[in-house]
Amino acid sequence: MRLAAIGALPLTIERLLITHLHSDHITDVNDFITTRWIQGFPPQSLPIVGPEGTNQFIENTIEMLKPDIGYRTEHHSDLPSPPELEVKETSSGIVLDDDQLRITAALTDHKPVHPTIGYRIETEEGSIVLAGDTVPCDGLDELCLGADVYVQTVIRDDLIKQIPVERLQDVIGYHSTVEDAARTATKAGVKTLVLNHCVPAPSTTEDIAQWIDIASKFFEGEIILPSDLERIAV
Ligand SMILES: [Zn+2]
Ligand SMILES: [Zn+2]
Repeated sequence: MRLAAIGALPLTIERLLITHLHSDHITDVNDFITTRWIQGFPPQSLPIVGPEGTNQFIENTIEMLKPDIGYRTEHHSDLPSPPELEVKETSSGIVLDDDQLRITAALTDHKPVHPTIGYRIETEEGSIVLAGDTVPCDGLDELCLGADVYVQTVIRDDLIKQIPVERLQDVIGYHSTVEDAARTATKAGVKTLVLNHCVPAPSTTEDIAQWIDIASKFFEGEIILPSDLERIAV
């Protein structure tokens, strides 16, 4: 739904990369699968890559969609079969390598959620790392080494620590703080650090400036905290 809001329609998306199976990262996968299927003339097969457990998750999703798939295949003669999905589970290594694109995965650390992976995507124009939820770790360092852009989900532990609720405190142990992300960026020599999936979400321009200011104490490159649906060019 969010991709559609910026005009990135499902058919323009060639593959789906899943970092981990936390609900806030996957519950809309069913919309993506369904919309891409019913908008394809003819429907296109969808490659999906994710960590161990992804096969089961996709099977469960298709099971949940069964009545809907039944309605549509019965109603549309040019939609005779269910969505075609090519699921590949991986922990590390090359996910895709052709003359235009190279995608590498590596294990990250979001324990007790395990296994989790991050991705590095490389084209002739540059490289970008989609780290997902993780604390600093060797796999993340490997992915980030010399990358142009490093996108990291981040939290502000200094703010969360002020809220005396155990469940919120639990969030701290398995996410990168802004400082962690900035240190990873410096260690790897990346050019641009993009902060996203911020907890707690900054709501004002001043808040955003504060997040960037903290990161800039530990990283001298470009730092961006985009708003949701914003396109960034670096
Ligand atoms: Zn997560
Ligand atoms: Zn998350």
